[in-house]
Amino acid sequence: MNEILISRTDRVFVLTGAGISAESGLPTFRASDGLWAGHAIEDVCTPEAWERNPALVWEFYSERRRQGATAEPNPAHVALAELEKQLGERFFLCTQNVDDLHERAGSVRLVHMHGELAKARCEWECGEPPIEDHAIYENLNEVGRCSCGGRLRPHIQREIKKATLMVVVGTSGSVYPAANFVHWARQGGARTVYVGPEPPLNASAFTHVVEGKAGEVLPGLFTVEPS
Ligand code: NAD
Repeated sequence: MNEILISRTDRVFVLTGAGISAESGLPTFRASDGLWAGHAIEDVCTPEAWERNPALVWEFYSERRRQGATAEPNPAHVALAELEKQLGERFFLCTQNVDDLHERAGSVRLVHMHGELAKARCEWECGEPPIEDHAIYENLNEVGRCSCGGRLRPHIQREIKKATLMVVVGTSGSVYPAANFVHWARQGGARTVYVGPEPPLNASAFTHVVEGKAGEVLPGLFTVEPS
């Protein structure tokens, strides 16, 4: 399948994972035997990791901020931003990535379900909203405090919506609840398409799997029916 026709009545939900940023030079999680930049994900990306060793968590996210600042959006990010321009409110993008490459490509209707690198929030869940925070922390003593006194920690969150077409890009299908989105979309009657160089673990749940790199496949994949 080289083309996905998007009709006048379609609503498109796109889910992206680490693979969409691979061609921008950001390491995926799967590429290195279940490690993200040399760390087991549970050592740096869980509430338990924060309790155990907040200095290591900030060291890890500071390095991700440093890498993210030099990475550029690739043609896959741009293709999704252009699709959003054509579909407007019929388009919704949910990313598992904490980088800001979708925003920098021009995406607006976007939710980061695992949080954003450039934000921090209070470790005590005191109710203060997350704040912009681009700092690279070398030492835990440099990390700021919320107005309530709690130490700032990286910001994490979740969301999902209904669609008639779900497009999933560059995610291994191993991290929940995102790996379940395709099942929820199928239950609602949606067409479901996966794009990536290899089938994901949940490949059987997709109506189509398009094998290839996101930056090569996405730019020519969609044809939008004029309204
Ligand atoms: P994953 O690392 O488990 O899987 C990456 C997937 O991307 C694989 O299925 C692989 O086949 C595919 N892929 C590799 N190169 C690709 C390309 N050029 N085009 C399209 N697909 C390609 O990633 P995941 O499923 O997103 O889960 C890992 C977790 O780690 C997520 O929770 C995510 O938040 C986090 N993570 C985020 C970033 C980031 O923000 N850039 C980077 C690494 C990991």
